[in-house]
Amino acid sequence: MHRGPQDPPEERDKFYQTLGVPKTATEDEIKKAYRKLAIKYHPDKNPGDPTAAEKFKDLGAAFEVLSDPQKRKIYDDYGEEGLKEGGGWQPGSAADIFNSIFGGGLFGGMGMGGRRRVRKGDDVIHKIKVSLEDLYRGKTTKLQLTKNVLCPECAGKGSKKPDAVTKCTVCRGMGMRVIVQQIAPGFVQQSQAPCSECQGTGEIIKAKDRCPQCRGAKTVAERKVLDVGIDAGMSHGEKIVFAGEGDQAPDLEPGDVIIVLEEKKHPIFRRDDMDLFMKHTLTLSEALCGFVVPIQTLDGRILHIRSKPGEIIKPGEVRGIYNEGMPRRRNPFEKGRLFVQFDVQFPKAGELTDAQKHAIEAIFPRPPPPPPSDVAEESEFLDIDPSMPNPSSHGGGYSATEEEQQGPRETVCQTQ
Ligand SMILES: [Zn+2]
Ligand SMILES: [Zn+2]
Repeated sequence: MHRGPQDPPEERDKFYQTLGVPKTATEDEIKKAYRKLAIKYHPDKNPGDPTAAEKFKDLGAAFEVLSDPQKRKIYDDYGEEGLKEGGGWQPGSAADIFNSIFGGGLFGGMGMGGRRRVRKGDDVIHKIKVSLEDLYRGKTTKLQLTKNVLCPECAGKGSKKPDAVTKCTVCRGMGMRVIVQQIAPGFVQQSQAPCSECQGTGEIIKAKDRCPQCRGAKTVAERKVLDVGIDAGMSHGEKIVFAGEGDQAPDLEPGDVIIVLEEKKHPIFRRDDMDLFMKHTLTLSEALCGFVVPIQTLDGRILHIRSKPGEIIKPGEVRGIYNEGMPRRRNPFEKGRLFVQFDVQFPKAGELTDAQKHAIEAIFPRPPPPPPSDVAEESEFLDIDPSMPNPSSHGGGYSATEEEQQGPRETVCQTQ
């Protein structure tokens, strides 16, 4: 980014004045000053006092910047405007800043509510495939995963010697370095890069002091088995959350392990919410004269569903029954519906003998043929797929779109 000279130098003292510390103040001095003043001006101690509230907010902003070596450097060099332009900085919530120093409980949680601001690790997402049978009955499955845990040997410190871990001097413990380059007089470009000295950790541990178990990495990999309880009636995409079971790291609230259910395709049933759908093919005589459909349910029962007396099923028709669908989550005695879509198997071409045809005609008489006509033309049905293009249209020349794109032609068509 480009930036010219910003606030006049005296403006760059404002945050120091707010905290009442000199520009040379150490981090400890800044923290001490903030603690003292923030308690004095805290809104819970000064209810309904707008001046105190304003002061409390200013203290938070000043402390947020001056307690962060990186932000403090930018502020010293370019003032508050430099911060806003440089990294889009906006003062954070004064209450959050206060809580991050004191924890939430100082004033008995009155009005402060918020939790400590702790960085949270990434959530780990695992997909597990489950059969429709398992979703119908519910089951517990074991999931083995490998996760990083704080090293038990050094309690996540990276070294067993208490003074072996020192703040990286190059990045002042930030893990990141700000690189400020002057690209033209009065214009600088600022960028960030992980500190090469400490590999972005902000800490230096001498090789000989490193914990033998984690080699200074502070975490070790551990195998963990989670019991995943799949409730009857759960569905595709549903999440089961194991809070805080994600990777551990120092100064980090572990993320969650999130199990996402993936419903396997079933050879017979298709599920839609609580309803189940299946297909069944009847013979022509079943469709006309009655039938029984045998179904193996998802919990292994055998079900015989009978047609009603006199019922006739046409191809594509659907029938349903109650209480043989999927169970409702948390109330597995309530179940959805089961629908069966029928197909009817007709005899194949040429399969019927003349005698059979006559027998059928005797039951289902044919309509009389159309009256004879001298002018009627004779034709025959063909097996044509209407979704295919008609090969006889356009006489085989070029396609309609080609014509449209090219517009009027000078030579239209050659004599064939
Ligand atoms: Zn260790
Ligand atoms: Zn460093």
